[in-house]
Amino acid sequence: MRGVVFPGDRRAEVREFPDPEPGPGQVVVRMQVSGLCGSDLHMYRQTSAERAGNNTIPGHEPSGVVEAVGPGVSTVHVGDRVSVYHYLGCGHCKHCRAGNMQWCVERKGYGGPIHGADADLILSDERNCLPLPDELSFAHGALMACAAGTAFSSVRKLQVTGEDTVAIFGQGPVGLCGLLMAKAMGGRVIAVEPIAERRAVSKDLGADVVVDPGEGDVLAAIRDLTHGEGADMAFETSGSVAGQTGAVDCLRLGGKAVFVGFGAREKSISPAQFIGRQLTLMGSFVMPIHMYWDLADLILEHQLPLERMVTHRFSIEQAPEAFEVFDSGRTGKVILEWR
Ligand SMILES: [Zn+2]
Ligand SMILES: [Zn+2]
Repeated sequence: MRGVVFPGDRRAEVREFPDPEPGPGQVVVRMQVSGLCGSDLHMYRQTSAERAGNNTIPGHEPSGVVEAVGPGVSTVHVGDRVSVYHYLGCGHCKHCRAGNMQWCVERKGYGGPIHGADADLILSDERNCLPLPDELSFAHGALMACAAGTAFSSVRKLQVTGEDTVAIFGQGPVGLCGLLMAKAMGGRVIAVEPIAERRAVSKDLGADVVVDPGEGDVLAAIRDLTHGEGADMAFETSGSVAGQTGAVDCLRLGGKAVFVGFGAREKSISPAQFIGRQLTLMGSFVMPIHMYWDLADLILEHQLPLERMVTHRFSIEQAPEAFEVFDSGRTGKVILEWR
């Protein structure tokens, strides 16, 4: 099979790998869509010295059709359409049993350290193969494996209602998914995004107001849009110092914010920003696996147009170009697609 590797210094290469064979409890999935995620870029941007000897296939947003099942597999069948949950836990500890594989001390991730989705085939555990409803496309399945799940778990923590104005910092795929979900839950969304291409996608997907931080004072703009009070809630997806600070400072008294964006090297938030104003600040990381079914219901029942955020589609042979384009930041969702 073909698989992508990152040799370092912002390069992607397509290489030949042996086809995986499913062992007991394992499943081989033929990829249909693999989504590129901002966290792939952390590996893509490492130096060749940092990547030396690392031939792990990246990609943790797999969606495809079951090609083969190993001994003892009973709940997944050849031909099933699946989205693959990308953290593989031990399956036995309290975190795994609660569906929080991302907290398992033995957790491994598809796309690092075990082979991921940017390949013709992926070897998965049976329990990570989640049924993809016929009405949902493989692009939906890929988004649900990471970006949409991350957004869903976060927006649920905010408990958005029709009374709320939600400020979303960053309109990459996670922020755009958050926008669609906050709208579906009845909220009014102010989207903050410095890149013009992403502001255009945000507007297309229904943001009530889109603010360009390059155009002036974001906090003043949010206060103006909320009768001087500030946003009821904020969702921070950019990982930038400006976004993290803005997500706290834009809130009304007693407001709440959830943070998913990594990346800022410097410290950004100080307790002085939230003690007196009695804010509630939360972290969020991926989604517990059991939320997948509620996420599918939300997408289906509200007909969330997740696929409209896909701006670029590439074949696996075009992976070098796909990562170069995605690394520019001037895109919506970028996917690898098999036809
Ligand atoms: Zn991801
Ligand atoms: Zn575990």
